[in-house]
Amino acid sequence: MVAMKMQINGKAVEACGGEFFGVKNPATGELIEQVPRGTEEDVAAAVEAASSAFAGWAAASPQQRGGVLYRTAEIVRQRKDELAALLTQEQGKPLAEARNEIEGFAHVLEYYCGLAGSLRGDFIPVPGNGYAFTVKNPLGVCAAIIPWNMPALIMGWKIAPALISGNTFVLKPASNTPLTNLNLASIFGEAGLPAGVLNVVTGPGETAGEGLVRSPDVRKISFTGEARTGKRVAELAARGMKRVTLELGGSDPMLVCDDADLESAAAGALRGRFYNCGQTCTAVKRLYVFESIAEEFTKKLETGIRSLRIGNGLEKNTSIGPLNNRHQWEYIKELTSEIEEKDSGRIITGGKVPAFKGSDKGYFFEPTLVSDVPGDSRLLKEEVFGPLLPMVTVKDLDEAIEEANSTSYGLGASIWTKDLDRARTGCEQLNAGIIWVNQHMKIAPEVPFGGVKESGFGRENGPDALSEYLETKTIMLKT
Ligand code: NDP
Repeated sequence: MVAMKMQINGKAVEACGGEFFGVKNPATGELIEQVPRGTEEDVAAAVEAASSAFAGWAAASPQQRGGVLYRTAEIVRQRKDELAALLTQEQGKPLAEARNEIEGFAHVLEYYCGLAGSLRGDFIPVPGNGYAFTVKNPLGVCAAIIPWNMPALIMGWKIAPALISGNTFVLKPASNTPLTNLNLASIFGEAGLPAGVLNVVTGPGETAGEGLVRSPDVRKISFTGEARTGKRVAELAARGMKRVTLELGGSDPMLVCDDADLESAAAGALRGRFYNCGQTCTAVKRLYVFESIAEEFTKKLETGIRSLRIGNGLEKNTSIGPLNNRHQWEYIKELTSEIEEKDSGRIITGGKVPAFKGSDKGYFFEPTLVSDVPGDSRLLKEEVFGPLLPMVTVKDLDEAIEEANSTSYGLGASIWTKDLDRARTGCEQLNAGIIWVNQHMKIAPEVPFGGVKESGFGRENGPDALSEYLETKTIMLKT
């Protein structure tokens, strides 16, 4: 097997230590590729390349930078099918979802091209015979450490605003899903991105990831992943006085009121929970349903869940693929056994490892609905990345909001109702970075995305993300 290489200073390179690690298909257990096991030495080379490329890239006009991003998006769209197939093989998601993700990557690049002309400061009249101006400068070398659940989309969210603002970049992909990231990075080169502007170092989080955060020449780290890892990244970054954006997942509640359109709410809950096999930071992770409609709603969910088809994401008609890795699979099995052992909920449907031809090779788990979940259940307290949907009945909106807010996370939340007053109350009182009304998990490059509480800080997407990658310089001029 020919190993894929990392990308440093416009060249495809092996790791300094000459070691590799394998990337496996979570649906079949087969080895897909080997990639270099990057070390701190490789991180240093990548940061040096990004530092050397900075002056030239920062001096290019935003329109020139936008042109490169635009051409990259064009090539990505032309190769959408082949990139999506690779993403499905390394991540597990159904092909249709992988295509959406690749489209999303191209879209976010195009969106920031459109903002190229809006990179400007302010003019501020000051008392006396003087003027004040602000100019917006790029930070320098920025870096991102990203996860395996949506590797292409999250790469785009971080790289596009950083590059359009004139920064150079080092990316560390998740070790389970580096292949699509490496392919996307090489397309930037084909589109004319100068050498060193974007570098990719593959390797373990504890060495390559931490090396990047410790590097004195990296000015900003954007991290998406587990809250515990995010805290470690923030601690290390603080020592070097680096800027940080943290997107640390969530435990999004979905509130279904008694006047909601139940058909549409059930469809929203199914998509919200089982898209990407439940491995999405803004997935519906807790369902709070008014008592009076709980029985009818449960039936709709059960029917919908039974219609989902589990399988290899590359196969036509698969609506739910495997979990991405053994760790997640074991975790989901453990939580499900606990429900039965501790009598902490009633499994309405699912709850098992499925049996179909070849299922023993992959990390498959049935989409599962659990009702009567007690408040102290791990299903409600932890960020459950997998196809388990816990449902709790509530008597009214006050109780639903109180329960919804009783978590350390605060990424997204949704309220489903036809009553404008209830919708407004939900928007005002739910404590999260994003509130949806009669929908869940809708995201777009135009719309700021990020959390409160332990879900992290900083915003991705929209114009807000640009300020994460720009420094304001104030100039006071006396004439
Ligand atoms: P991690 O936070 O461990 O991994 C995310 C990224 O951080 C990966 O690139 C990883 O590298 C890297 N990393 C790991 N340790 C360090 C470190 N000490 N310093 C710097 N970088 C590091 O998440 P997991 O993959 O272990 O997933 C665990 C849980 O995290 C999931 O169950 C889910 O709850 C949550 N999660 C949340 C996501 C979100 O979108 N917010 C996305 C993915 C997971 P490597 O891959 O080499 O270990």
